[in-house]
Amino acid sequence: MSNLDRFIRYVKIDTQSDDTTGTSPSTEKQKDLSLLLVNELLELGLKDAHMDEYGNVYAHLPGKGSRIGLNAHVDTALEVTGADVKPHLVKNYLGGTIKLANGLEMNPEEFPVLKNHIGHDLVVTDGNTLLGADDKAGVAIIMNALEYFHENPKVKHSTICVAFTTDEEIGQGPSHFDYKKMRAKYAYTIDGSAINKIEAECFNANAVTITFKGVSIHPGEGKGKLVNALNLASEFINYLPPKETPFDSEEKEGFFHLNAIEGNSEIATLHMIVRDFKDKGMERRINLIKEAIKKVKEAHPTAEVTHKFTKQYVNMKKYVDRKPMAVRRARNALKKNGLEPVMGAIRGGTDGATFSKNGLITPNLGTGSYNHHGRFEFLDVQEFEQMTKVVIDLVK
Ligand SMILES: [Zn+2]
Repeated sequence: MSNLDRFIRYVKIDTQSDDTTGTSPSTEKQKDLSLLLVNELLELGLKDAHMDEYGNVYAHLPGKGSRIGLNAHVDTALEVTGADVKPHLVKNYLGGTIKLANGLEMNPEEFPVLKNHIGHDLVVTDGNTLLGADDKAGVAIIMNALEYFHENPKVKHSTICVAFTTDEEIGQGPSHFDYKKMRAKYAYTIDGSAINKIEAECFNANAVTITFKGVSIHPGEGKGKLVNALNLASEFINYLPPKETPFDSEEKEGFFHLNAIEGNSEIATLHMIVRDFKDKGMERRINLIKEAIKKVKEAHPTAEVTHKFTKQYVNMKKYVDRKPMAVRRARNALKKNGLEPVMGAIRGGTDGATFSKNGLITPNLGTGSYNHHGRFEFLDVQEFEQMTKVVIDLVK
């Protein structure tokens, strides 16, 4: 079986997670892939391979030296279905428009990233589903690397601590993760895009919920008395910096993002997320929110405003910096394979952020797949193959 065959086999298994079920794993079907992986790991000589009740898979390949962790997630994103994936191979992409089977098109004007893959073979969808290379490309890369060590028993390697997790796409990957079972000194998630990138930085993330309670009275007799909760919410928004939204920000800039306002003139609840790479920056944003709430309260003494901040995840950088060997090792493996390492920052979260915060330093590496979470997702076959070699060198 070729490396690519393995990937194709995995993407045909529907493992979409679901943020509404409240169970763990959020969908039982994720275990279909987890169980298959356990069997394949056993065949590859990882004798302790097993799945826990949450669908997480753990296995070790004993070796010498540091215990190095490799992680990928088995679930796929919520935006587009992952059922009945029909991958298509585009051989030797020449740079033009790719017609997907259902009539949709991918062209380099709309997706400039395609220009970086001219001359390579690409795996695309039929336009009806996502591809699921996020993160089955990561799963396949790890399995292919393990197959290499199985077929080349004389090649020395570290003790490889493998973990495949469920529910990454709903932010629950680390919820039931057993660090003691994995017992790695440090680890890598293989869950990114460009294969020369090492991502060891992500947003600090908070969510805030604010409830505005107005004063309800017949509008005809409202003079000097009626306080409209929806107006309070809108006043609050106007006190925030108008140019710090996702629309206005890129790279290392943070933002405020309003998710929802629900309610009526009497009571309204506002849901917002706040993102910033820097601790100080996050502090500033939280203070701005508190100040805005104060201003609303001062202007409307008869109204009631309550708020609640929830920490979602933290920038992993400060933890990763404490154990620089994880990044150093990745740099060396990339260079050995002719790739110039680039440090990247994730404008979002990663399971590795929570792993790192909990003591398991986990930078993220690429898979050679792009346009995640949608119908235009694709895998660059040559990059995928090259990344397998990088992962082999990473644990050699
Ligand atoms: Zn992913």
